[in-house]
Amino acid sequence: MPRQLTRRQFSFASATAVGGAAVLGPGALPWIKRADSGRSRRNSLGIALVGLGSYSAGQLAPALEETEQCHLAGIVTGTPAKADSWLAQYPHLEGHVYDYGNFDSIADDDAIDVVYVVLPNSMHAEYTMRAAAAGKHVICEKPMAVTAAEAQTMIDACEAAGRSLHIGYRLHFEPHNVEAMRISRERDFGRITYAQTEFGFRLGGSADQWRLKKSLAGGGALMDVGIYAIQAARYVIGEEPVSVTAQEVKTDPVRFAEVDETITWQLRFPNNCIASSQTSYALRSERLFAAGNSGWLELRPAFVYGGIAGKTSRGPMDLPQVNQQAKHMDGVASAILAGKTLSIDGHEGLRDMRVIDAIYESIRTGQAATI
Ligand code: NDP
Repeated sequence: MPRQLTRRQFSFASATAVGGAAVLGPGALPWIKRADSGRSRRNSLGIALVGLGSYSAGQLAPALEETEQCHLAGIVTGTPAKADSWLAQYPHLEGHVYDYGNFDSIADDDAIDVVYVVLPNSMHAEYTMRAAAAGKHVICEKPMAVTAAEAQTMIDACEAAGRSLHIGYRLHFEPHNVEAMRISRERDFGRITYAQTEFGFRLGGSADQWRLKKSLAGGGALMDVGIYAIQAARYVIGEEPVSVTAQEVKTDPVRFAEVDETITWQLRFPNNCIASSQTSYALRSERLFAAGNSGWLELRPAFVYGGIAGKTSRGPMDLPQVNQQAKHMDGVASAILAGKTLSIDGHEGLRDMRVIDAIYESIRTGQAATI
């Protein structure tokens, strides 16, 4: 029988997959933190959230109430009213509030070990590099950059500064996705040779939001949620794609004048494995399907914060729901504390950016693009 993780067996440790070489320079870890919110700060890293939008406020800050190896230690915002309301809710942040102008002085703030960049996509590179120059470890939201070339400069900057760079790939801590990775790796159904991955939603909101502006978003649905479909195809097939063909359609060319709305693409992997994928800002779809020659797995929904469900050709998956953001941040913090990087590092983010670049190239040329 293939091993399937049960609710009880699934643990934080099983999802972290800590690996790789030590990346931290000497003196990187202020081990004893001020006990400013009542919890012991020993062995807990201080995280500063940069950009207090919906993901920081709705997901990350609440998750930092549940983490054990990191805690909210600072905020960076361009909106004074947000600084006031966050200080009212988190009084221990007094003295650890920054704006985009004085951001670099975070270098002198020993309460902050890690800067978590949660800004519009085109701002990720600048704040990642400034954070590393300030001597901080970095977590950067997906997509890590707006081009692969930009992603490489971020990796170089963090390596030069001796600071770790991790990407906000929370699904590497989500039990159903972790189980899909395991099934592929351990070949429960033989080698996975075909995958279908899709993630789309209807983007509401005003026409002047940053997600609709190329200068801030870099791209549209592909950068925002299509990246999950790329990731999933890569982690269930377990190899790196070599080429892609892609097609774009727009059902609303006015609203989506600057960024992509709906894209389908086909990734070709070595050994004739194929993934067929889709993303959209116009329609909701969310699925991960993968097949080998003796069975299949399906997650639907596959990528949301909660309620992910899975089954295989052998039956349903019985796995717990977890706070993905808390697991992700604790996983990164524990790796940093151990002097290691996780597999969800800048190089992993770069692999996805190379695929994104190739998808846009294929749309532009109408030809298959090499990755
Ligand atoms: P929001 O629009 O809700 O928040 C972005 C924040 O960035 C703003 O509230 C603002 O914060 C700050 N900001 C600074 N400059 C600008 C600018 N010129 N225009 C707009 N905002 C600016 O976005 P999200 O929180 O949804 O997304 C932020 C990042 O997180 C994106 O890269 C996105 O892809 C990623 N994300 C990841 C998710 C995941 O599941 N991993 C889920 C959701 C988002 P302030 O006022 O404090 O300066």
